Amino acid sequence: MKDRSIRTRVTFWFAASLIIVVLLSVVSFEIVGQKITEKTTINILRDAVENNLDEVEYYDQIPGDGLDYDADYYMKYNQGWLEIDDDFIPNVNGVYCTVYDAKSGETEMIYGENPIADTTKNIKLSNRDVQKVNAEGVTYYIYDRKVKSNGLDDMWIRGVVSYEDNAGDIRTVSQITSVILIIILAVAIIGGYMVAGYMLNPISRISGAASRISRGNDLKERIDIGEGKDEVHELADSFNNMMERLEEAFADEQRFTSDVSHELRTPISVIMTQSEFALDNGKSEEDYVSALKTIKRQADKMSKLVNDMLTFARLGKESSVYVKEKLDFSELVESISEDMALIGENNITLESHVKHGISVSGNKDLLARLIVNLIGNAYKYGREDGHIYVKLDAEGDKAHLSVEDDGIGIAEAELANIFKRMYQVDSSRHDKGSGLGLFMVKEIAQYHGGEVIVESKLGEGSRFVFEVPLLK
Ligand code: ADP
Repeated sequence: MKDRSIRTRVTFWFAASLIIVVLLSVVSFEIVGQKITEKTTINILRDAVENNLDEVEYYDQIPGDGLDYDADYYMKYNQGWLEIDDDFIPNVNGVYCTVYDAKSGETEMIYGENPIADTTKNIKLSNRDVQKVNAEGVTYYIYDRKVKSNGLDDMWIRGVVSYEDNAGDIRTVSQITSVILIIILAVAIIGGYMVAGYMLNPISRISGAASRISRGNDLKERIDIGEGKDEVHELADSFNNMMERLEEAFADEQRFTSDVSHELRTPISVIMTQSEFALDNGKSEEDYVSALKTIKRQADKMSKLVNDMLTFARLGKESSVYVKEKLDFSELVESISEDMALIGENNITLESHVKHGISVSGNKDLLARLIVNLIGNAYKYGREDGHIYVKLDAEGDKAHLSVEDDGIGIAEAELANIFKRMYQVDSSRHDKGSGLGLFMVKEIAQYHGGEVIVESKLGEGSRFVFEVPLLK
């Protein structure tokens, strides 16, 4: 069954449960029908016998001249007469009533009809309740009652009725119901099969789209099953969202690869040009030193790029490489600020205000990288004779490190992009950057359960704030 389609399986289980329900209904109907027939038959039998009881009487003499009573049946009995009134009904509603005389110890049929006289002949007459007998494969009920009239001490009325005669109607109803149920069952199964197909159609489309993607690598493929809020629509939406993210991630990867190649191409071509120049045209020691210096600078750049990429890869996968431990963040910020204040690039002054005793759970190398990147950017994008303010304090359960400059600032439209991998604001693109600095800052912040916020105004300066949970 497992190798069948969902549609077939759903229909199969649906049909199986329906068949069980229909069978149970038919069986219950049959049982209830039998019980009702049995009860009705017994009631009819009892009524017929009881009604006839008063119609059998004993008379010493035939009343009147006998002529007025010719509709009644008289027969000589003992010293008088046995009268069977014309109200005695020998056959009503399938019940046969027979008058029996048990005087001589034998059961002698006197009046009436009994279709199974031979079978019942050996059943003793008694005032017991209705009993069931089987004659020629047919079920009969028998009910005996003693006649009450004086002088008829051994006179009995025996009623006999066939179960089958009364079961006819119920059986017909039961047969018609069964046929109707079978028709309903067939319609329900065919309908169920069609509905299952209709309901599962979007899933077939989802699976079709998935296999088209796996065959053709077309990440633009989407599923359109119209508006809806059910589980299948949710599945289609999740699939589309997944494809959206896959497409973005894939495009991101491609952009990254091409950016990295681009970033590596420049230093490589500089290194090649410089080495060719030195080999072909180098005349003095000065020429060689200058070429080697350029080559070293470009090699440093390449090495930094490769190291950065390695860091990202490790941050993503091998977090155990960067172990976090209790760290005096104040000390780290202070020492890096002091060191970087010595750079003095563009005559920029760095001031730091560090609150002491702030500890965090962190990796020293990564946090140092974060601080260096932020202060480095403040220098890179700072203005001549400008200022950098580094401030560390604690608020609530967080440490706040802010690095503020009065440099070129960032346009509002660019603020959302600067943390993206290898993103550089066009106007600030220059030789020193690779667009990885802030991406790394963001990744490191997240790795420490913190975040980075930026406030900036074009032409006025920027302020980057790193928030990280305090370690108390
Ligand atoms: P880059 O290697 O270009 O510096 P980053 O990821 O560090 O890359 O920064 C991304 C971009 O954000 C930079 O190209 C620059 O335009 C902008 N930026 C970063 N820091 C500053 C700052 N302090 N002032 C102005 N612009 C900045």
